[in-house]
Amino acid sequence: MITDLRSDTFTKPSAAMLQAMFTASVGDDVFGEDPTINQLEAMAADMFDMEAAVFCPSGTMTNQIAIKVHTQPGDEVICEKLSHVYIYEGGGIAFNSGCQVKAIEGNYGRLSADQVVEAINPQDIHKATTSLVSVENTANRGGGSCYEFTDLQSIKEVCLQNNLKLHLDGARLWNALVAKKETPRQHGELFDSISICLSKGLGTPVGSLLLGNNSFIKKARRVRKVFGGGMRQAGYLAAAGIYALENNIVCLNEDHAHAQQILIALQKKEFVGKIMPVETNIVIFEVLPPYTPKSFEAELAKFSILCMSISSTQVRMVTHLDISSEMISNLVSVIETM
Ligand SMILES: *Cc1c(COP(=O)(O)O)cnc(C)c1O
Repeated sequence: MITDLRSDTFTKPSAAMLQAMFTASVGDDVFGEDPTINQLEAMAADMFDMEAAVFCPSGTMTNQIAIKVHTQPGDEVICEKLSHVYIYEGGGIAFNSGCQVKAIEGNYGRLSADQVVEAINPQDIHKATTSLVSVENTANRGGGSCYEFTDLQSIKEVCLQNNLKLHLDGARLWNALVAKKETPRQHGELFDSISICLSKGLGTPVGSLLLGNNSFIKKARRVRKVFGGGMRQAGYLAAAGIYALENNIVCLNEDHAHAQQILIALQKKEFVGKIMPVETNIVIFEVLPPYTPKSFEAELAKFSILCMSISSTQVRMVTHLDISSEMISNLVSVIETM
């Protein structure tokens, strides 16, 4: 049995989730006729108290559609320097939307309202028009850090004052909501668009949702088609999403507890340098001699434990639905012997 901590994308659907998928009613979603997709979209919109939602193959697509709808070519997007939309989406902001980025170094991946104010270009023909702010919650490269809700409210204020749209890359928003005991509706009220992934902590094989108001989602459906993301009988996938929203959100607390156990084990080791604050299901830490990130990875692999080096100095471990308490105990004993 492999303990795969490389990412929370490695989960396999459970028997119950597969059962829900097998028995889904389906239709052609490009024609709006897949009842299960319609149900999932309505369910998500209701959870966030937003007007509408659209089901997409990936979180990259939901983010990129949102950026495309909110901007015009030549605009500038404000985001954090290590944000997924900027460094992990293949240059999509430039490729799909013809926009440039003002990348800001935040606090463990989080922007402050003051930083956003500072980053807005003046109305000057030399400057790109700033039109969008994109924030990530939890922030992956910030070690799964969560925003304080009041900080998001301050960023929203700045956006309103400056006529900017505000997008949330909520690939792991559920982790933040569970950790901070916040509600989807609080976030639904704040953002012009929200992307959430069903294939990370919630454990579905495929799928993300983009939420917004009716006119935004109407445009998003068109862009989804242009990007090649219009799917047909994808209700089989949406059924997994419905199952996940109904059953798997509560499991995230356990993932967070497992991450804390890993943190405690690492803190005792001399070969572990700086560990980012662990707020959710991600543990990012510096590896010191005698190990390197690569050799640490190789050492754990001998015990069928997989983790991922994410820079020349750092390793990342991510807990998820398919990581059991026994696997964590085993990992902790392995770390103790190193
Ligand atoms: C995983 C992830 C996404 C979306 O990734 P896909 O693999 O395209 O679904 C977006 N943002 C963040 C922060 C992520 O971790």
